[in-house]
Amino acid sequence: MGTDRYTKYDLHCHSTASDGELSPTALVEYAVQNGVEVLALTDHDVTDGLAEAAGAARAHGLGFVSGVEISVTWDTYLLHIVGLNFDVANVTLQQGLAGLRRQREARATEMARRLDKLGFDGSLEGARCYANGQILSRTHFARHLHACGRVKTLQEAFDRYLGTGKPAYVKTEWTSLETAVQWITAAGGEAVIAHPGRYKLSATKLRRLIEAFKAVGGRALEVISGSQDINMTRNLADYVRRYELHASLGSDYHGPSQTWRHMGRLPPLPQGCEPVWRLWE
Ligand code: AMP
Ligand code: MN
Ligand code: MN
Ligand code: MN
Repeated sequence: MGTDRYTKYDLHCHSTASDGELSPTALVEYAVQNGVEVLALTDHDVTDGLAEAAGAARAHGLGFVSGVEISVTWDTYLLHIVGLNFDVANVTLQQGLAGLRRQREARATEMARRLDKLGFDGSLEGARCYANGQILSRTHFARHLHACGRVKTLQEAFDRYLGTGKPAYVKTEWTSLETAVQWITAAGGEAVIAHPGRYKLSATKLRRLIEAFKAVGGRALEVISGSQDINMTRNLADYVRRYELHASLGSDYHGPSQTWRHMGRLPPLPQGCEPVWRLWE
């Protein structure tokens, strides 16, 4: 059961359909064991895990919300826009996501070419061993490099090779903020700026992002994200109130090897934040 200490909602997490480590069923079971009562699965650019997760959620009496985390290019930044509570069968959304997955394939090929040039042979096949779903993520490359003993931690793989501006980083023009929001709203869902604190935006840039997002129909901000510090939460809650947005929250759980991130341990939304679930409950 949820307590006053922890929220019962978790509207951001990943399964093996993208770069999570747990199958949709195992993820749902883990969520239930940790006191989550309403869950959204938000895999990167793919909704393939939703049917299995929804079935498992039904079996366990867990509230379930459809979700996805869309890769977006805005200004010079790679942003993540979460979609919640949409019609999974919507063709506009699904065609859009399919396009992003094709971009991911092309990017993975180029990433692998660069890693091979750095002396790491077989990077593409290696990364694929860690991907069960339809998408190849930098996380899968990081797991491969780690398993080969090329790096000591996943973080090191990003710091040395895969992170922005590093030798195997392939700059990609993902979809626009406007288009991502349109896909989500066309499918009857709510668009949420995921973990706004993680993009290293100046206050001016963050205001510009929020204004651009609102102008195209975005309605919510993720105010609480797993392993985010309290000052950032307060800061984001201020933006939500000032811009009259709704607030979302989620662990961004990817699996047990992310030992610093759990489910069922997020605090409730700060006072005065209108929860995003009011838009559909
Ligand atoms: P991609 O969507 O393929 O560009 O991969 C981005 C994913 O890599 C994110 O969703 C995170 O799960 C993971 N990631 C990004 N940066 C880091 C990092 N510094 N350390 C570990 N994982 C990261
Ligand atoms: Mn991820
Ligand atoms: Mn993200
Ligand atoms: Mn995520």
